[in-house]
Parts: sequence; C-alpha cells; structure tokens
Amino acid sequence: MSQQTEPLDVEGLREDFPILQREFDGTQLVYLDNAATTQSPRQVVETITDYYYEYNANVHRGIHQLSQEASVAYEDAHDRVAEFVGADGREELVFTKGTTESMNLVAYAWGLEELGPGDEVVLTEMEHHSSLVTWQQICKRTGAECKYIPITDDGYLDMEAAEDMITDDTEMVSAVHVSNTLGTVNPVSDLADLAHDHDAYMFVDAAQSVPNRPVDVKEIDADFLAFSGHKMCGPTGIGALYGKEHILEEMEPYLYGGEMILKVTYEDATWNELPWKYEAGTPPISQGIAFAEACDYLDEIGLENIRRHEAELAEYAYEQLTQYDDVEVYGPPADDRGGLVAFNLEDVHAHDLSSILNDSAVAIRAGDHCTQPLHDVLGATASARASFYLYNTKDEVDRLVEAVDDARQLFA
Ligand code: PMP
Repeated sequence: MSQQTEPLDVEGLREDFPILQREFDGTQLVYLDNAATTQSPRQVVETITDYYYEYNANVHRGIHQLSQEASVAYEDAHDRVAEFVGADGREELVFTKGTTESMNLVAYAWGLEELGPGDEVVLTEMEHHSSLVTWQQICKRTGAECKYIPITDDGYLDMEAAEDMITDDTEMVSAVHVSNTLGTVNPVSDLADLAHDHDAYMFVDAAQSVPNRPVDVKEIDADFLAFSGHKMCGPTGIGALYGKEHILEEMEPYLYGGEMILKVTYEDATWNELPWKYEAGTPPISQGIAFAEACDYLDEIGLENIRRHEAELAEYAYEQLTQYDDVEVYGPPADDRGGLVAFNLEDVHAHDLSSILNDSAVAIRAGDHCTQPLHDVLGATASARASFYLYNTKDEVDRLVEAVDDARQLFA
C-alpha cells in the first residue's frame, strides 16, 4: 500500500476523465457529487471494453479459451482487491453489488442465524441507511435490540458512551468509517477493540474511506468490512465484502444457486470454497475485473496523496463557505474531516440551492444522504453536500462558493 506524500498532478489526472470536460451552455461542469459516485478514468473504462471485445465469456464453467481467460481475470481481480485493503487473498474477499449488499449478506447469513432476544447490535447515530435499516430490520425479526452510539455537538462519536454501550450482550458493532454526511473519521480500530473485549464482531462500513485513504483490515482488526467500486473510480454493480476467513467459513450462504455449490443431489448440496460460496449465479465479470483496475489506478496515485488532497479541498471549502454567517456546515472542524462538506444556507432549502448551483454547472447532492435519523439529530430536514475527489481543484471550490453566493443574492 502506497504511503508517498506528493502533491497530486491534478491537471494531468483530469485528462484521464473525459467526462470532466463536459460543458452545459458553455460552462464547464464542476463535479462535486463524489460521495454518491465517482467518475471512471479511461483505464477503467477500457478494461471493460477490452473484456467485451476480447474475452467475454462466462466464468468457472467453461473449458474453452475465452472462458479460461475470463475466469483467470475475474478470479485474480479478487486477489487484487483483497490486497488493496490488506486482506490475505481471495478467500477473504467476496464480490457483491456494493456496500449495501455486503451489509445485507452478513445481516442475513450471520444475523438471522445468530441473533436473538437479549442480544444487541451497536451502531452509531451517523450510520448510512444501508447499515441502519438492515440491522434494524434483522433485529426486529430476531428479537435483538439496536443501540446507537450518540454523536457530540461537534460531530464526533461519543466514545465514553460507546464504552458503556458495548457490553457482553453486544454481538455486533457496526460503524461507518468516514461519515458520508458529517465527514467524521471514526476510530473504528478502537471500536473493534471494544467489540472484541466483549466477544462481539466488528463490521466497518468503509464506503467512504477505502476510496480515499489507506485502509488495512488487519490494522483495524475488522471482522467484516464493506466498500463499493463506483465510489473509487470503478463501475457500478460491483463492491466487496471483506470477512475473516474463519468467519466466512462458518457462516451459511446468503444466496443459493449455481457457482456456489460443490456437490448437489436431489436431497442436499455442499458449498464451494471461499469466496465462491457467497457468489451464486453468473457474477458481474467485467465489473469485477474493472474494479481491480481501479485499485491499480488509485495505488499508482497513492492513497495517502489522495487523502491529503481531499482534506485540503474540504478544509478550503469549509473556510470559504463559513465566511458568511448564514451558512452552517455540519460535522467536525475544517482541519479534521474527510473530503466532504454538508451544509445549509439559511432560509434556502437544500433542493433549491442544488438547483441554483446546477444552473452554474456545479453538481452537488441535496437531501438526507441516506442518513435521515442523523438529520433529525442535526435538526435539519435536508442538507446540501459537496464532496471531493482526486480530480477536483481549488478553482472548483471557488465556483461552488460563487454559486452559493448567487443563491444568497437570489433569495435575499
Ligand atoms: N455507506 C456509506 C457511508 C455510503 O456513503 C454509501 C453510499 N452513499 C453506502 C454505504 C451505500 O453504498 P452503495 O449504494 O454503493 O451500496
């Protein structure tokens, strides 16, 4: 895993992303919706076209040359993505549709089997709906209880409360690594220690961290960790679940069908080896191979470089936006956050703000960002969110701030 600390050659990198050259009515696009999905560089897109032009075939089952080429590339992609997060290899890395499916896989395969009345699942108040709703519903079905670690006024996790809440009744702690609304970087390794002190598992939602900082599953000591390809220069429809091998061995499959079996009779079936046991049916082959290419692309740039670049942009945006008293930015201070800022402009609904920004070709997100209960805690029905990635510039932050000023004038 790369640890270089060089400034990014952003202008050079932008050439890899043709979509960033798009103009709307002669105004160049400023794409600041990266927490929702990132753009893909030529290298990743060409991996997909190469696959369809050169070796498109179903994997695992074919003896013919094309199928063998596709199988090797698809299987190797698991090792590459595993390596990207410090896992030992494909046995610990299941391809899924994304973070949401990874979460559901564990909730169904482990949670439905293992949870019951008296058991507790400890989440945080800043969970994305993909974790919050999933565990909430599995708890309802099993009689277990969901608890939420509160946040402090400045948007950090209240770790003292966490220490009290994680007890011998806790079976699972599931926490978001970097909050997609607050930008808070949570101490997931400390949470993992607390979970393990009480023989509970630790699930890390790394959808907003794996794309933009070095993440090592062993350093965190996560039992499970989930992330999505489309938030890290890869295609949609592909993501990953890391799981410790012995746990993945013990769990029952989540989906049944072809590919995931070893031996089938009319009476029973046995399961394929890891990770195929959890990948029933024809998998997303080109997406998986392109996911690995995205890992190569990011490693080439250096994850630590990306982290620092994003943090600089977020700090700059925070400072520029809060020059005005009528802007409220949520979450930790400017110099201690991931690469996004969620905010509200007084008396202007986030949807109106986003629509005005769109008139200036500035793409941000408005809404609850799949964190409705957190917005209740913040006392806001919605917020506007600008989120940055490796190809964004300070000039683009200036365009954001100017467009927010236009909205201010319009509603004055
Ligand atoms: N968790 C977090 C923190 C996220 O930001 C997102 C995506 N917005 C998800 C989970 C869900 O990811 P996906 O939609 O790719 O499954």
